[in-house]
This record gives sequence, structure tokens and C-alpha cells, in this order.
Amino acid sequence: MLAYDKWPPIYDETYMPEPESRYWFPREETMEPREREALILRKLRAQVEWAYYRSPFYRRKWDEAGFHPEKLKTLDDLRRIPILTKEEIRKDQAENPPFGSYLCVEPRDVLRIHGTSGTTGRPTAFAIGRDDWRRIANAHARIMWGAGIRPSDTIFIGSFFSLYMGSWGTLIGAERLGAVSFPFGAGVPGQTLMALSWIKEIRPSAFYGTPSYALYLAEKARENGYDPKEDFAFRIMFFSGEPGAGIPTTKRLIEETFGCKCIDMGSTAEMSPWMTNGECEFRQGMHLWNDIVYTELVDPDTKEPVPFGSEGVPVYTHLERTSQPMIRFWSGDLSLWTDEPCPCGRTYPRLPKGIYGRVDDMLVIRGENVYPSAIEEVLRSMEGFGGEFRIIVTREKVMDELTIQAEYSSSIASQARSDSEVLQHLQKEMQLRIKSKIGIRPTIELVSPGTLERTQFKARRVIDKRDLFKEG
Ligand SMILES: [Zn+2]
Repeated sequence: MLAYDKWPPIYDETYMPEPESRYWFPREETMEPREREALILRKLRAQVEWAYYRSPFYRRKWDEAGFHPEKLKTLDDLRRIPILTKEEIRKDQAENPPFGSYLCVEPRDVLRIHGTSGTTGRPTAFAIGRDDWRRIANAHARIMWGAGIRPSDTIFIGSFFSLYMGSWGTLIGAERLGAVSFPFGAGVPGQTLMALSWIKEIRPSAFYGTPSYALYLAEKARENGYDPKEDFAFRIMFFSGEPGAGIPTTKRLIEETFGCKCIDMGSTAEMSPWMTNGECEFRQGMHLWNDIVYTELVDPDTKEPVPFGSEGVPVYTHLERTSQPMIRFWSGDLSLWTDEPCPCGRTYPRLPKGIYGRVDDMLVIRGENVYPSAIEEVLRSMEGFGGEFRIIVTREKVMDELTIQAEYSSSIASQARSDSEVLQHLQKEMQLRIKSKIGIRPTIELVSPGTLERTQFKARRVIDKRDLFKEG
């Protein structure tokens, strides 16, 4: 019998794998993918029915698209369900506060409220049901076991304990697994210095946080006379919230700095249990633990599933979430997937290069979401624009700076020969129009026609020099 034959599954809270076992649930983790598909379909049908009959939001959305849960006969039928975006959720919550009309449990059955920070508009509230919280704990324990964490470990959690789901998800997973937790937190002035002496004193064997914080911690350690390898004892460091731990150069840097295994994890908070993208101890790219959250990779334009070996956008579907289920949630991330075997023996697909981009190229500059396409739209609407541009983002001390290099047209070039103010005028006009579009005043550098290399790839027009994790 499988660990979850009923839906929603209730996990045995006393269950522990054999200490020597590589797997938490050996059968589920190593079964033939075809066999697992049948299991996923059973869970999926129950999940989709749950959402349809309990949520006005899903019923309306799916009725409009001509989808009914009865139409879900095979896993392929999942693509009949329309994609769900963050904007739709946000809009539904604004219209049906506070949790939206996709809350599928009674408000009194909500155990915890988390959410996004909402720096750029209305935040999203995550309402997590009592039983869902236990399922998240069990999922995270299972995946952390896969990463090599054992009950004998002490886990230092060096990330914010507030709305941010990452720290809490790690904490409950660690508690379910039976490890010792050290929920140290982050973000309080002077806390990193305190962390150094605590880490030396307690010598935790595992670390959770963001890759950039781990590297900052190492820098502070060295400045204060500690050796991150000798004075600390991290055996495993696992990460989410940023792509760094999946990028080979950063992974190597973290492993060499701390003498540890660097494990990449994380989908997105909406999808908690967010660890269902999670590397095993062999670190061959994140496994998609798709009997907990089912993940498709789809073509960014056609939205059709792409075959293994191809690049696409992860689209996530909960399989055991009762409170705010996400069905075909569009992540907007870019990744590549494979079904090639992993040395660990798990038969889940993998993201061998992690999550390495955004399909919409969205930039966050001084807390504002900036779409390069919006800048492009403004430039292309201006007569004096010469056809090619670059967006350069830098960080001066703590402030993000946005510079746009734009070519002027050849007619502007000939006008400029007799009237030196033409270029100045164009520069001011560009700055003004872009500022009113995106809310940030850019520095405009005008360059003569034909200066910039032509490119078909939008991403190559964006140069983000703030990014610590880009490969050289
Ligand atoms: Zn593996």
C-alpha cells in the first residue's frame, strides 16, 4: 500500500524511514514513471474536483474555458485546464478579501497566514489550512531526507522569520524529520556578527538560507578572523529564494568556501510545499517531486508541453492542497528538464541547470517591477530612436541605477550636424517618457546609429551588473 491512498492524504506522523535508507518513501520515489503517472492522475482528479466544487473562482474560470473535472481522464487532459497567473490571484483577492474566492476550506480551518511583501502593489495572502500544514511538513521532511539531512543534524536557519515562507517551511520539515532546529533568523542589525559566534559555538551541521547570505556570512567570517571551513561544521547547505545554488560556479564557490554539499531547492511560495523542486545529495539538478506537486514544462508562447531535453516554463499543480490549491500555476521562470537517470535512483524528472531565467525578463529595480518590453515600447514609439538599445542595471552603494543606451536615428544624426541641441532634446524626451512609463528615472546615453550589435534575443539587451550569480 502507498503512503497516500486516500485524498486528501493524511500522513502517519510517527513514520520514519530506516536509518540506513536513502529514501523517505522508497517505493514512491523509485517507481517506474508510468506507474507513478497513474498515481498522479488519481490524486490530480481528486484535487481538481475539490477545487471545482469548493471555489467560485475555479468554477467560473473553468466553465468559461469549457473545462469540467469529468473531462480529466488522462494526465494529458490536464492541458485542457487554462493556465493560472499571479495577476488573476491578486485580482480575485482584491475582489474577495482577504483570501480570495479560491480558498477551498472554511476560514476557521486556516492555521497560518503568510504572504508576499507587496512592495509593488497589493500583497498576496497565503492561507494555509491546518491539515495542509502537516502535509507540507511531511513533504519537506521527505525531500530534506533526500538531500541527506538526518535526525542527527542540527539545522541553522539563517533567513527571515516573517511573511517569508522559506524559513517556516524549513523549520516544520526539520521538526517532522526529527532534526534539531536553530531558527536564528536574519535581517536584524548586528545579527550576522552574532551568527558567527553562535555557529562556532553550536557547530550546526546544516544551513538553510539564500546563497547570497551564505556568501556574505563567509565574507564577514573572514573579516572577523573565522575560517568558514575550519571554524564551522556545515556538512550540507541548502538554499531557496534565489537561483545561485543551481549555477555551477556559485555552487562550487559555496562548496569550496564551507567544505559542504550545496543543495538547490525551491519553486515558489504559492506552491508550498515549495521544496518539490529539490536536489538530492548527488546534486544533479533539482528533482521534480511530482507526486506531491505536478510540474509541466511548457513552451512560453504556445503553452504546450515541451519534451524532455527542452527548455520551457514550469507550470505547477498542487496534488494535495485543500486550502488554496494552485492548478496550472504559471511560474514565469525558465528552465530545462530531463528524464535521464540520477545516481540516487529516484525516477523523477530533473532540472539539471536549475531555474536560470525569467521568460518575461522582468527586472526588479529599486523595488519596482520593470519590464524591458515596456522600455522597448516607449523607445520604438519615438521618431528619433535608431532601432537598437541596451538596458544596463548597476548598483551604486545600495541604490540601483538604470542606464539606457539608445541609438539615435540617422535623420537625427544629420540634424545634429547643424543644431547641437537636437540630441540633448531627444535625450530629455526619452528620459521623461520612460520615467512616466516605468516610474524610475533612467540615465540615457545616446549613441550614434549602428553602434550597438543587432540581436534577436531580448535577454541580450539587458545587462544586469548587480547579479552576483551570472556565469562569467
Ligand atoms: Zn537524485
